[in-house]
Amino acid sequence: MISMFDPNQLRAVLSALPDPLFVLTESGRYAAMLGGGDERYYHDGSGLVGKNLRDVLPPEKAEWVLKQIAQVLKEGNISTVEYGLSGADVEGLDELQGPGGTLWFEGRMQPLPFLVEGERAIVWVARNITRSHELEEELRRLSEIDELTGAMNRRKMIEELDARFAEFRRYGLPTALLIFDVDHFKHVNDRFGHIAGDQVLRETSKLCMAQLRSVDLFYRFGGEEFVVLLPNTDAEHGCATAERLRQAVADNRVTLGDHATGVTISIGVSDFRAEDEGGEAVIRRADDALYRAKREGRNRVVC
Ligand code: GH3
Ligand code: MG
Ligand code: MG
Repeated sequence: MISMFDPNQLRAVLSALPDPLFVLTESGRYAAMLGGGDERYYHDGSGLVGKNLRDVLPPEKAEWVLKQIAQVLKEGNISTVEYGLSGADVEGLDELQGPGGTLWFEGRMQPLPFLVEGERAIVWVARNITRSHELEEELRRLSEIDELTGAMNRRKMIEELDARFAEFRRYGLPTALLIFDVDHFKHVNDRFGHIAGDQVLRETSKLCMAQLRSVDLFYRFGGEEFVVLLPNTDAEHGCATAERLRQAVADNRVTLGDHATGVTISIGVSDFRAEDEGGEAVIRRADDALYRAKREGRNRVVC
């Protein structure tokens, strides 16, 4: 099939490859570079030829690429990886030319059947997948958050709770869990309307999130119920945090047009225990405590 081109034409065909193709040797030398000429997608990598990737990439990225090369040479077939890289990461690239910011690539590799400069070598084709990568990230983010409050949603909570519980089993780090529910929220809706109710939920979430540490995890469990996961926190400190949240909400006023109103929350607290079968048991215990807080008069914490 190739014989229909003379060597010059063949070179032109390879140079016209839309995605850049690198020939990399086992020791990390850029032996050749072809294609990828469109500046909207790629930096001009031709200046890399003859250099070692250890001299142009940050150390941990260089080691990672070398590991991939070794792996492909060992396995002998196509391998695919995804990685982020910016023009500024690569020594000797003209940063002003080509796209800015972190780019995402899909790298496809295949070993070459002959030695290059006396070394085993591979072909590495890098395709710019930044747009689809960013879209994927955004979709993932959207699938994990609650639109109204910006808190993480119930699905994410179940996922995270299971992961944290498995970690607790392994390492025994204490973890506290709070469930809270807005008191007499139906009255807020009845008195001010559903839109105003939404605003109260939004502000209450924001207020609570502001009270938490950056490692704490805040979820909308459904309706006007929320869950807080407090990593590295025992039951006693969990109760103290719950009390702080309760107080902050009780002290706050929400402005609704010409009116201002306040709400209170009731909180049930539990913690991970060795005898629990899983995260669900922890939730159940917190929910029982929340139910008691309601029965005992609301605007309170039950541990
Ligand atoms: P309690 O103190 O026992 O919790 O009383 P409550 O009135 O809060 O009782 P309940 O939990 O049964 O009612 C919750 C209400 O919250 C019912 C529902 O209409 C309302 N609600 C649930 N989700 C939303 C929402 O997203 N926006 C608004 N505005 N209201 C919601
Ligand atoms: Mg309620
Ligand atoms: Mg409720």
